[in-house]
Amino acid sequence: MAQLIAGNWKMHGSRGFAAALATNIAAGAAGLACDLLLCPPFTALEATAAALRGSAIKLGAQDCHAAASGAHTGDIAAPMLADLGCTATILGHSERRAAHGETDAVVRAKALAAAASGLMAVVCVGESAAERDAGQAEAIVCAQLAASLPDGFAGVVAYEPIWAIGTGRTPTEADVAAMHAALRAALLARLGVAGRGVRILYGGSVNAGNAARLLAVAEVGGALVGGASLDAESFLAIARAAT
Ligand code: PEP
Repeated sequence: MAQLIAGNWKMHGSRGFAAALATNIAAGAAGLACDLLLCPPFTALEATAAALRGSAIKLGAQDCHAAASGAHTGDIAAPMLADLGCTATILGHSERRAAHGETDAVVRAKALAAAASGLMAVVCVGESAAERDAGQAEAIVCAQLAASLPDGFAGVVAYEPIWAIGTGRTPTEADVAAMHAALRAALLARLGVAGRGVRILYGGSVNAGNAARLLAVAEVGGALVGGASLDAESFLAIARAAT
């Protein structure tokens, strides 16, 4: 299966910025072996969709509500995202877990809502620095995975150590390999053979300089990229390192 390189643009950019970035990425994406997914803020989804028209690059959001509609001021439902042309959404990013109190149960409910609207959920899991230092990283992350995934999950998992996000620090390849092996085993135990088809992305300070070695680690099915996804050339350099 091709690796997936997903850009999480977080809360950055006007519609004009998003359109220009998506246009430049699309212009440089011809011939890439990997799959590409761009996740702009809600306000830039329509402009990004227009810029990506005619390209194979997929459009995704950064969150969705668990309900399909209703009295949820300020929230966005999965059917609304599908209506805008999204085929995916990030869910349970550590920034949302921390700042919005999203629990594993909330993430699981959102993953069900995403699937019901035909969206591929990119479910994020990851440990804090203190949890890693205490030797609990694999246990914590696998417990998060178990509680965040609905039965029959057919999306993507992103392993994102919290201490690596936006810090310029990354785990060693051996640590990435160990975590991804543990996650694969957990997926197989939970989903049976279907667990083999779930790509496990690595995320956390991926850039043009470290992408090749991180993407070469066993069971790494791609990357979830934050900061480096806001520059077309950096994002494309990561994508060129993917297979
Ligand atoms: C992220 O927040 O999903 C992320 C991976 O950020 P960064 O690449 O900036 O560390």
